[in-house]
Amino acid sequence: MELIDGKKIGTEIKREIAEQVKKMIDADERPPHLAAILVGNDPASETYVTSKGKACKEVGFDSSTYKFESDITEEELLETVEFLNNDPEIDGFIVQLPLPDHIDENKVIQAISPEKDVDGFHPVNVGRMTIGLPAYVSATPNGIMELIKRSGIETEGENCVVLGRSNIVGRPVSILMSRTTNPGNATVTVCHSRTKNLKEITSKADILIVAIGKPEFVTADMVKEGAIVIDVGIHRVESSETKSGFRLKGDVKYDEVAPKCSFITPVPGGVGPMTIVSLLMNTLKARKKEIYS
Ligand code: NAP
Repeated sequence: MELIDGKKIGTEIKREIAEQVKKMIDADERPPHLAAILVGNDPASETYVTSKGKACKEVGFDSSTYKFESDITEEELLETVEFLNNDPEIDGFIVQLPLPDHIDENKVIQAISPEKDVDGFHPVNVGRMTIGLPAYVSATPNGIMELIKRSGIETEGENCVVLGRSNIVGRPVSILMSRTTNPGNATVTVCHSRTKNLKEITSKADILIVAIGKPEFVTADMVKEGAIVIDVGIHRVESSETKSGFRLKGDVKYDEVAPKCSFITPVPGGVGPMTIVSLLMNTLKARKKEIYS
């Protein structure tokens, strides 16, 4: 069994990005600039935006945060989106989700210029990704594809089962795995809460990508001998074995599944570290105008 080390791969990618930024600065060019809009005081969102700022600093990007109270009106938020759309010094920006209930998330996402939508949530980017045009691919699916690529995993002709069909993970990763790219060219089955005979389907998977949102849902009897398992789930579960009283678990029962796998992502340290790295990759592409020239 080989571990897919997301932390190590993420560090490698950050080093590559930092090298490219250094070249830009040496050539008297402006470094990439990522901005984030943060509404309200949700601790998880605040932590995530702070981590993005730190990651930007690590690779030499500029970053800025536009922070608002949770009573900001939709109109004010849309004005900020428009301001960032038009600011030539900002290459890409994200609106941290979730937004308060009185704001229509879809309206805000669709107000972001696709050219600056480094989160890849705008329907134009989703559509372009689907038909194989250059696009910003959202962070988690992009990170999963990068992990597969950099681990040297062959996906062509393989039987890939994706567990979950959310717009942020399952659906896009299933599209990416079925595209005529490398990685890709897999035969993909998407499973969800209405799927019948789940175990029968998952146990035929050469590659099993799990984004179901249920701690330790996938057990050894659901996995084929020699399978490649990508565990997207992340859960803080109570544990008497740690000082904090918590432990991070994935959607896969790692201890019993790992011995059956040829490759597996651990939790933590698998898919998780790739998310912010993917955002940095997209921001670099935005600065270099690689997607929309
Ligand atoms: P989600 O929106 O809750 O989607 C879960 C999917 O699993 C849905 O499609 C659902 O089916 C399906 N499902 C639920 N119960 C099922 C069952 N018993 N049998 C078969 N399918 C079932 O979750 P998500 O946003 O995709 O996230 C999935 C997990 O990944 C979560 O643990 C989340 O925390 C984690 N995550 C991690 C990262 C990272 O950076 N590591 C990023 C994003 C998400 P229906 O569509 O029928 O409801």
